[in-house]
Amino acid sequence: MRHIAIIGSGPAGYYTAEAAQKTFGDNVRVDVFDMLPVPYGLIRTGVAPDHQSIKGVSRRYEKTALTENVRFVGNVAVGRDVSVAQLQELYDAVVLATGAPKDRALGLPGEDLDNVIGSAAFVGWYNGHPEFADLNPDLSGDTAVVIGMGNVALDVARMLAKTPAELEGSDIVGHAWDALKASNIERIVILGRRGPHQIMMTPKELGELGQLDRAAPHVDADDLPEEGDDALLEPGLRKSVTLLREYAATPEHIRAEKPVAIEFAFFSQPNALHGDGKVSSIEIEETELQKGRAVGTGKTTTLPANMVVSCIGYRTAPIPGIPFDERAGRFANDEGRILRGLYCVGWARRGPSGTIGTNKPDGVAIVGHIAEDIESGTLGRSGKKGRAGFDALAAESGLDVVTFQDWKKIEEAEEAAAREGAPREKFVDIEAMIRAVN
Ligand code: NAP
Repeated sequence: MRHIAIIGSGPAGYYTAEAAQKTFGDNVRVDVFDMLPVPYGLIRTGVAPDHQSIKGVSRRYEKTALTENVRFVGNVAVGRDVSVAQLQELYDAVVLATGAPKDRALGLPGEDLDNVIGSAAFVGWYNGHPEFADLNPDLSGDTAVVIGMGNVALDVARMLAKTPAELEGSDIVGHAWDALKASNIERIVILGRRGPHQIMMTPKELGELGQLDRAAPHVDADDLPEEGDDALLEPGLRKSVTLLREYAATPEHIRAEKPVAIEFAFFSQPNALHGDGKVSSIEIEETELQKGRAVGTGKTTTLPANMVVSCIGYRTAPIPGIPFDERAGRFANDEGRILRGLYCVGWARRGPSGTIGTNKPDGVAIVGHIAEDIESGTLGRSGKKGRAGFDALAAESGLDVVTFQDWKKIEEAEEAAAREGAPREKFVDIEAMIRAVN
């Protein structure tokens, strides 16, 4: 029997558990740990609340979670409640699937002003992540600036732009639903330091901006490159750029029918944030592309900004003692191998890129490495204590472990508390989750 501990119950974690089960069958026991009492990581707290069909993938993870040889070990923080070294004593392989939950810093003057928010915090707030439940963003001003031109920037802009009616079937948490209902934001500027051909937005997500009830995308036709140049783009990006062209061609009187403007500001790099305690403006420098890179031209302007959300990517949270690649913001690894018996997968391995589905081959690959390392003798003979060993440790340390059956009680309580039309009302603090179990 081989024992595998997976740290993190998001897509990377559960795809790895699924692959382990397929590869080793009855000869494996997998424990999937999460610091929260609830599973699914990014599916629960990262994927936008109005993208319920994407969140539906959790049903696949539940299937894995409910099998005999996989179990969920919730409410246990690795690094706080138990160390990686302790887990390595107990399990043949430890796989870090901890994602990239930390915001990358802008590194700009004024970044610490109030209402300058990283996307991990803002997305966590509307998605009910306990760490960000008290964020309380100030939505009383009229202009929000969103930095970055990836899909997270689109999620944030769309959530700020949607009407309460458009959010009805979503699982946006109560505090964010109430705050957004009272929001005064009517101008959302999406800032990109490069041009339309360099956006990281995928067509389906960009297309949603053109379908909003009270908001319209504004693109300046002068920012678009020669149409013929689109032929050189890969098909997905070409579709996205075609959408930008459609938005640019929309007559002003049609756009003006919608009171909220979502403006695309290309070739605009943020230089500094200004304000007295709270952000009130952002200094922007015009850029030009040199060999694909944005280079400042020295021409600056100042844009009012009552709120700034930076959506410029994420970093993995380091764990003391585990080799970390500071520049890339993820664990230092060789195709997922960190040290003997210690692996990483998903965003913790490759950084924050790709779709949910990208984690599936990633999980298969890491289990392939574990199988190779068993085969080659690198992981030693079997004989680790696995689950039984962890249970003894948890009892000794007085850990309040949440099982998958416990999670199902939390889920039931969240579904029972849902607003009309919504799938659930999430608990946003850990004590409330634990109370629902008991
Ligand atoms: P991303 O796709 O890497 O986009 C980051 C954006 O931030 C880029 O436009 C980048 O511009 C810009 N940026 C980076 N550093 C900057 C700086 N210092 N100043 C100004 N701009 C800066 O990252 P993401 O949007 O966080 O998304 C992460 C991953 O999750 C992606 O793979 C994404 O597709 C995925 N995701 C998918 C969905 C969905 O499918 N519905 C939803 C959300 C997220 P440069 O290109 O110039 O560096």
